[in-house]
Amino acid sequence: MSGHSFENITVMPAQAKPKIKLKGVSKTFAEGSIVALDGLDLEINEGEIYCLLGPSGCGKSTALNLIAGFEQPTRGEIVVEGVTDLTPGPDRAVVFQKPLLYPWLTVLQNVTLGPTFSGVDRAEAREDAVGYLNAMGLEGFESRYPYELSGGMQQRVALARAWVNKPRILLLDEPFGALDAQTKVVMQELLLEIWEKFRTTMLYITHDIEEAIFLGDRVGVMSRRPATLKSEISVDLPRPRTVDLTVDPEFIRLKKAIIDELRDETGIK
Ligand code: ADP
Ligand code: MG
Repeated sequence: MSGHSFENITVMPAQAKPKIKLKGVSKTFAEGSIVALDGLDLEINEGEIYCLLGPSGCGKSTALNLIAGFEQPTRGEIVVEGVTDLTPGPDRAVVFQKPLLYPWLTVLQNVTLGPTFSGVDRAEAREDAVGYLNAMGLEGFESRYPYELSGGMQQRVALARAWVNKPRILLLDEPFGALDAQTKVVMQELLLEIWEKFRTTMLYITHDIEEAIFLGDRVGVMSRRPATLKSEISVDLPRPRTVDLTVDPEFIRLKKAIIDELRDETGIK
């Protein structure tokens, strides 16, 4: 039997199939004059929190918008759960830095809108929404309007609204970027607490190194524009995580490594 040698066969353990896969993805704007992404390769596994970190303007939001199906890649391929022709869908919920709530609807109405729209029974949608709002610490705020809430509370409503639709993937674009440092930490802990229950696959975009390490199973560091993935760092810190972790020697070691990775990407010599 020419060409077949049983001695050379290595049996590999079954690999987790990536939930999201980007292969050589490029995206240009303005008739090709702006190259936002240049051959980005990325794999995100089922149930993991993948943090994408990079300097401002490097193409992080562009990558998220492509996965969400808001935009199409100029070159390359994106596969989400085996699907390549991506259009926006309820399987991938998106949370932006701005909460984007409907100002004329109450907190509860904002959260029940999605499920009601997709045919869930009104009473059931309401019960479900109250459950997620309670988990977000918003008990008693159901009949308030968004303008009556602080920025952090609005963002909690936005998270409840995303999760209530039971998405298989959560795409978060700097969701806590506009919050003060104290509120941000509380929100990060809250996010992890709820994630522990559902283990939703998450792509979390940030330019905050500590946030990326605190939340992520892996941190992808992007290069300056035109962006590719420069490196990937595994965060082998135990879960559940609380803010105490940020003074752990391993946390600090990872932070130092990522600072060094990003130093060359700031463009400042
Ligand atoms: P980041 O989220 O990392 O800050 P973005 O993905 O928003 O970066 O943007 C990457 C680059 O692409 C920037 O130079 C930005 O100006 C440009 N860009 C993004 N979206 C568009 C668009 N719709 N039209 C033109 N240029 C865009
Ligand atoms: Mg952005």
